Amino acid sequence: MNAFDLPMHGGQPLRRRSVLRAAGVTALSAAAGAATVGAAHAATAGATAAGATAGAADTLWDTVIIGAGFAGITAARELRAKGQQVLVLEARDRIGGRTWTDTFAGQQIEMGGTWVAPVQPNMVRELARYKIGTVPDAAPDRAIFPSGTGYASFAPDVAFAKQNRLLTPLFDGSHDYLPNPYQPFTRVDLLNNLDGLSLRDRLDQMRMSPDDEKWVNGLTAGYSGGSSKRGALTYLARWWALSNWDYDTFNSLSVDKPVGGTVALLKAILAEGAPTLQLSSPVSTVTDNGTQVSVTTRAGTVYRGRRVIVATPANVWKNITFTKPLPVEFTTASTQGIGAPNARKVWMQVRGPVGRFFAQGYEGGSQLNLVIPQAALSDGLLMVAFCVDPTLDATNVQQVQAALRVFEPKAEVVAVRVQDWAADEFSLGGWTFQQPYQLTRLLRVLQQPQGKVVFATSDIANGWSGYMDGAVESGIRAAGLAATL
Ligand SMILES: Cc1cc2nc3c(=O)[nH]c(=O)nc-3n(C[C@H](O)[C@H](O)[C@H](O)COP(=O)(O)OP(=O)(O)OC[C@H]3O[C@@H](n4cnc5c(N)ncnc54)[C@H](O)[C@@H]3O)c2cc1C
Repeated sequence: MNAFDLPMHGGQPLRRRSVLRAAGVTALSAAAGAATVGAAHAATAGATAAGATAGAADTLWDTVIIGAGFAGITAARELRAKGQQVLVLEARDRIGGRTWTDTFAGQQIEMGGTWVAPVQPNMVRELARYKIGTVPDAAPDRAIFPSGTGYASFAPDVAFAKQNRLLTPLFDGSHDYLPNPYQPFTRVDLLNNLDGLSLRDRLDQMRMSPDDEKWVNGLTAGYSGGSSKRGALTYLARWWALSNWDYDTFNSLSVDKPVGGTVALLKAILAEGAPTLQLSSPVSTVTDNGTQVSVTTRAGTVYRGRRVIVATPANVWKNITFTKPLPVEFTTASTQGIGAPNARKVWMQVRGPVGRFFAQGYEGGSQLNLVIPQAALSDGLLMVAFCVDPTLDATNVQQVQAALRVFEPKAEVVAVRVQDWAADEFSLGGWTFQQPYQLTRLLRVLQQPQGKVVFATSDIANGWSGYMDGAVESGIRAAGLAATL
């Protein structure tokens, strides 16, 4: 990145305040060479294929970690730094979990977690630690937002200023009920009264005109995984508070990408920790006998550890048998789901005289919720969309084109690549988005060790839950707890 380029966010040049904050991360870019993308599958310091001997079943590991996403890999590094022997068992044939750096249309793409932000302390620290820089997305040249019964193009500055004005009141009072966003229970007395509110409840309280509400409800429904009725007001308010209660900062969460992709950071963390990593090893059973924990894979191999960190998404806990029953809060969280349902990311190669447009749909008014322009191709434009509408077959080019043409009738979609996180058996959902009462009734229990078992995932972080930053936070916290068991 040219040091004199102004980072853009959602089409808006960052205001001076944001630019100064952004410098914390983007300045790192200068020091960073472009990392090789490489296949995430091969990113395995000390990795072995399933069935190989490195994870020998007769070893008593200090800690067995289930899951090689950001939370698990970070926990492994922290425990290795304490001198522990650590085994990581990963179900998939790659590391990264809900982050996955891959390629499409000749470009590096992210199928899951992508952007990092200067306000995310764990990401800033991790990127600096490994001298990995960031590169900002190029800005869109127009923003398509709801207008009447359809959509219209606006200058990005105009559109984002309007959305700022309409969105900000959604969070009225959040300075009071979330005064310290990294300690969400500081005013649990106030949260107890609010945590039952869905985002739809809050939108209804605001009594916006239907046209105005469309500028907000696409965002609330999209983050919630399809319907504003599902997501909790307190959850989105936590992201708002973490963004310094400031729209520009909130909007700039999706601008900067790690150079080399998320896999570059994962590989760096993994290489430093150098745990023993066993891919393609889905775990089916965890047995805690009070002094040791046995972990059994679907293939029937048993590994023993002095303690275990379960670093899988909350949505898949229900598919692991814990022979020592967990508190009901774990079952509730996994059955209700914390990871957003219907979460799909759709990459598109787009042709036509369409420019670099950004589009935000409204609730019920589009099958693609959010469309963001990415790289210019020799033959068109690479675009990424978020889809939380299960009626769209996002593998079907014609259907995706029809969905995109709701925003821009001249768009021609020539190829698509989709990742359906909700259908993926090792996530069963996408980004974290908590539902009403999950904060006040579940979170504190989910963060507590259960016998010799500790849980780690962005789904249960205190700070940037729902982001890679929260996964790192949770991995560090779990490692600290595990070391005491
Ligand atoms: C579409 C999408 C877009 C996103 N965009 C962003 C973004 O721009 N910025 C951002 O910061 N965050 C983003 N996120 C969120 C971010 O990706 C996650 O918060 C983070 O990656 C979660 O990390 P984790 O370690 O908690 O869980 P995961 O990454 O899900 O890791 C859990 C691991 O456990 C493994 N596992 C599951 N079951 C088993 C089993 N039985 N046995 C063994 N292993 C198992 C999984 O395979 C996986 O590797 C996005 C997420 C999605 C889905």
